[in-house]
Amino acid sequence: MAYTYDTENIFAKIIRGEIPCDKVLETEHTLAFRDIAPQAPQHVLVIPKGPYVNYDHFAAEASEEEVVDFVRAVGEVCRTLGIAPGDGGMGYRLINNAGEAGVQEVPHMHVHVLSGRRLGRMLPKAD
Ligand code: AMP
Repeated sequence: MAYTYDTENIFAKIIRGEIPCDKVLETEHTLAFRDIAPQAPQHVLVIPKGPYVNYDHFAAEASEEEVVDFVRAVGEVCRTLGIAPGDGGMGYRLINNAGEAGVQEVPHMHVHVLSGRRLGRMLPKAD
């Protein structure tokens, strides 16, 4: 697998505490914080603390502990935001962008948690 992690990307700086974030949740291996340019009333990013470029990199190289921690943290964020349908919440959408086709801007694995309004069609037309 040919991934080189850029240690100077903006999320790496957030993890190191070099720039601030609006934290929602932190666990041993995972951090969740509000997106700086929200695309919905609720827009939170969930990131592993480890140096993974995208989802397939994380899935291949993260430890089982990191993967479990991350998956559970995403669920915990949904419950914390009050959007989990099982708790009477309105629901949410998870998005992970990877590479050029996915229009990934920050080269550190992250899942977007979006909610707070009906989110419309899953995919808009390509720009
Ligand atoms: P993506 O296109 O999937 O790589 O999304 C990157 C996301 O990171 C975008 O939604 C940005 O608004 C968000 N973002 C960039 N810089 C920051 C930051 N300093 N704090 C919080 N979110 C950020």
